[in-house]
Amino acid sequence: MSFKELGLASYLLNSIAKQAYKKPTQIQEQAIPVILQGKDVLGIAPTGSGKTAAYALPILQNLEGKTKTKNRHINVLVLVPTRELAGQVEEVFKSFSQDLPFQFKSMAVFGGVSINPQMIGMQHINVLVATPGRLLELTESNAMHFDDLSTLILDEADKMLNLGFKKEMDKVFALLPKHRQNLLFSATLSPEVQKVERVLLKNPTLIQIEAEKDKLELINQVGYLVTPEKKGPLLRHLIKSNDWRQVLVFTSSVYQADLVADKLQKNGINAQAIHSKKSQDKRKTGLANFISGDLRVLVSTDLLSRGIDITFLPHVINYELPRSPKDFVHRIGRTGRAENPGNAITFVTEEDQHHIHVIQKKMKHWIKMIDTETMDLNTSANPETSSET
Ligand code: AMP
Repeated sequence: MSFKELGLASYLLNSIAKQAYKKPTQIQEQAIPVILQGKDVLGIAPTGSGKTAAYALPILQNLEGKTKTKNRHINVLVLVPTRELAGQVEEVFKSFSQDLPFQFKSMAVFGGVSINPQMIGMQHINVLVATPGRLLELTESNAMHFDDLSTLILDEADKMLNLGFKKEMDKVFALLPKHRQNLLFSATLSPEVQKVERVLLKNPTLIQIEAEKDKLELINQVGYLVTPEKKGPLLRHLIKSNDWRQVLVFTSSVYQADLVADKLQKNGINAQAIHSKKSQDKRKTGLANFISGDLRVLVSTDLLSRGIDITFLPHVINYELPRSPKDFVHRIGRTGRAENPGNAITFVTEEDQHHIHVIQKKMKHWIKMIDTETMDLNTSANPETSSET
């Protein structure tokens, strides 16, 4: 399914293309058509599932023809639990509003900073992203009006309730026009969220997305404790001794990607690097050869990892760690498949110890570590992984 097939207008497709999103995520596929129709949605989806774009895109399209309101009359309100999320969500709206054929303005307001600039900035705002407390303060000063509000979104509703915002949320709901579209997103469907849902949503469409963590259970994850000098021999050893035929290797820099691919090639393993410095043509043929099985090892950087459109890979190797845990999950997520789980292998140096700890903690998944110090990297048998190939 493509973004176009979901019914999105061409001005949004342009902005999506600029973000280098190749295809919709699960929640985008399910939520966008329903939101475009003006229906209420209950979305149970973890962070990282692409839920912000899942609501921002159809909401922007639904605003066409409605944005010329009186000053200080907003069209859409997004309630969020934290200032960080407020900023992030507003950025997403901004990034998709570049090519809109109508006037549009968004703004984020949150506590912990001076209220005055926010009050003054509230001019011709269409989408307001707000934390509940600050929103109430602003309404008390008559900074905005809700008569033209058509959509309310609660993002990370469970977190908002956990932080004790229930009272403020109820006060905000009471200020809004009765007739409106409501979208509620939450990572969990706790009893507290259900209470809010029953009051707020009318015949909602339920969209439930499995958490990445569940998917992680489907991946055989192994870490190798290794010195930087031994990474190359270890990589060749794993590929050769297990006779792996389709391996995606991630490095953290373009320079390393080239180096790793060259070294493999010199050692008789068919490998190619694709990254932002390669021509579009080279990237395309490299990827096509890899998918068809003609290229044994593809070495890539994170920049391209999101753009690589392969549904399943048997082996993913983190030659170097990515900076963010999100990217880590994204990389290894390439191998998670119920019928035939793949291998995700991570090289960990002394220097990486702290970072891999943080990544594991964030994933809530602990990786089995193997020390390579006494491993003979010239032998062809590898007891840890050979049984899986
Ligand atoms: P969210 O769950 O909204 O916080 O999004 C998580 C991350 O996924 C963000 O960095 C988005 O930019 C990214 N993202 C959202 N939709 C897509 C998509 N269709 N393709 C690739 N990346 C996406």
